[in-house]
Amino acid sequence: MRAGLAGLVGEAQFKGVGRARNVQVLALDAAQPFDFEHRMQHKISKDKQLTIGIVGFGTFGQFLAKRFVQAGHRVLATSRTPYFSEAAAIGAEYFEDADDFCEEHPDVVILASSILSTEPVLRHLPLTRLKRSTLIVDVLSVKVFPKQLLLSRLPPELDILCTHPMFGPDSGKGSWEGLNFMYEAVRVGKDPRRQQRLELFLDFWRSQGCRMVEMTCEEHDRQAASTQFVTHTVGRMLGAMDLASTDINTKGYENLLQLVNNTKNDSFELYYGLFLYNTNATDELERLEKAFDVVKKQLFGRLHDIARKQLFPAPVPNEQPPRQQANGGSSSSSSSVRSASSSSSSMSSLDSAAAAVNGAASAAVSLANCVAKGKAGAAPGAAAVGGDFTLVDKERAKGAQ
Ligand code: NAP
Repeated sequence: MRAGLAGLVGEAQFKGVGRARNVQVLALDAAQPFDFEHRMQHKISKDKQLTIGIVGFGTFGQFLAKRFVQAGHRVLATSRTPYFSEAAAIGAEYFEDADDFCEEHPDVVILASSILSTEPVLRHLPLTRLKRSTLIVDVLSVKVFPKQLLLSRLPPELDILCTHPMFGPDSGKGSWEGLNFMYEAVRVGKDPRRQQRLELFLDFWRSQGCRMVEMTCEEHDRQAASTQFVTHTVGRMLGAMDLASTDINTKGYENLLQLVNNTKNDSFELYYGLFLYNTNATDELERLEKAFDVVKKQLFGRLHDIARKQLFPAPVPNEQPPRQQANGGSSSSSSSVRSASSSSSSMSSLDSAAAAVNGAASAAVSLANCVAKGKAGAAPGAAAVGGDFTLVDKERAKGAQ
């Protein structure tokens, strides 16, 4: 060791009383008391460390806490349920009493309780025990509601940052690289220390690789209704269908199963909050319903054409022409309707007859069954005509008239 460090060894000569002696000073020894670099590094990380308090230590609160602790921040938590062991496992400190929590003077307080409980949770938080310049952050999945709530309830000396990490314990299980983090600095004092603290907090998300999206809460809710709410709704609809994995899953189907799985893990309260507290959600639900109708009409519209052809086949050559009524319309007799199918002048009566059929959803479903069963002739009630079979038997054709 000494030989290896020979070049770094300095030599000094002490001339004490009596004989002179050589003292060797090793660079390694000399460096230790002046470990400037290491001390500076430590100081920088201390400066960047925040004390982050989390109110609402459920699924999402714990999910965030883990990452804050890993990044070197001190994390405090309080909630309705005593999460002592969960907090300890993560490396956070749990406070059953909200007063004690606030008296720890966190730099940042994150509201991570359910959307529906945010108002009472905030009302019961002893804000006066916090430092006067605390930064209050919300992570609710809707944004206009907490923005208005915080602006109306928080004393002016508290800073407000509204955020929405657009991911959760499932979608953000591994890396957060490229995942969207939406935020609006709603109210932050001009004091450089406040600005610095805001940046320090935002730096955490940047350092995790999040894609930082600065946007107003109003714009967030407009966009989130047509993205997040629709995703949750479709996921829940598919979940209600009890989809199962098969031996021949396609990639698309795997994605659907994944969507069901992700949605299922979120509480219904969260989903209900997205609906109730985003004024745009109702419109999106209606759009979704209309879109479903459009797609259904496309499908059943085709069946309509097939049904019409089979309900009103081309007239048999010997058949009588339709009797004309006084108003020029065709009569309502079965034969006249059948004949009218070949006459373009009588299309209106045909259309109304066909519409009556089309209006009956059950008829359409049985038509679909018949088509699916094809020419095997297995369709119940199907009668053979000219080697083929009609999709609707004669009785039903009469009923349609
Ligand atoms: P959640 O069901 O929306 O909220 C659960 C949390 O709310 C728990 O901490 C629970 O406390 C608290 N809570 C519920 N009712 C309460 C009441 N009456 N009084 C006091 N506290 C109550 O599920 P979450 O997934 O953990 O979401 C928490 C927040 O994060 C929500 O605002 C959500 O919009 C937002 N967020 C969630 C995700 C996500 O992927 N999960 C993503 C982004 C944002 P206890 O556990 O103590 O009962």
